[in-house]
Amino acid sequence: MKKGKLFVISGPSGVGKDTIVNEYLKENDAHLSVSATTRNPREGEIHGIHYYFYTNEEFEDRIKKDDFLEYATYNNCYYGTPKSKIEEKLNEGINVILVIEVQGAKIVKEKLPETVLIFVLAPSMEEVKKRIIARGSETKEQIITRFKTAYQEINEIPKYNYVVINDIVSSAVKKIESILISEKCRV
Ligand code: 5GP
Repeated sequence: MKKGKLFVISGPSGVGKDTIVNEYLKENDAHLSVSATTRNPREGEIHGIHYYFYTNEEFEDRIKKDDFLEYATYNNCYYGTPKSKIEEKLNEGINVILVIEVQGAKIVKEKLPETVLIFVLAPSMEEVKKRIIARGSETKEQIITRFKTAYQEINEIPKYNYVVINDIVSSAVKKIESILISEKCRV
């Protein structure tokens, strides 16, 4: 059986990565990795579905146990990809999607060079700012930090294999579908 492929999707906070991936998964088969984090849950977020929410101690304990494929700090919180399911799903021939930030993407690419890196952008930085503010889940300071981080993240685009602009969700989803299909057909 052909192994599944690993796809990493990154992009500034507020560009709509999760929306695109969730729309993609409605029509397509892939395993979306559930990350671990030490940030507080947003309203409606459920432990084990959106994230595994851990304390700093719990997260650091898992680092020591080598539980993560990668981890990084973003906005003073830890974020990490649990290793456990990834190899299993790839061996079953299932594509795996990680929605992670740029430092983590770099680590994954170093460890697993076959990984396909996709960067999602909003039509403009003004739009990114609007979307972060509209979400209403961050403090003013956190919004400013996320916005600053967005500029640093954009500098990393040359390390990525593809860029998708999320102007209209349905067309961004089509682009993601096309990328995944093409990558699966690669010789
Ligand atoms: P948020 O707090 O908005 O859910 O996520 C903040 C950033 O962390 C986003 O760019 C998100 O993609 C990224 N992120 C989520 N999970 C992981 C992970 O497991 N590892 C890394 N490195 N970044 C992650």
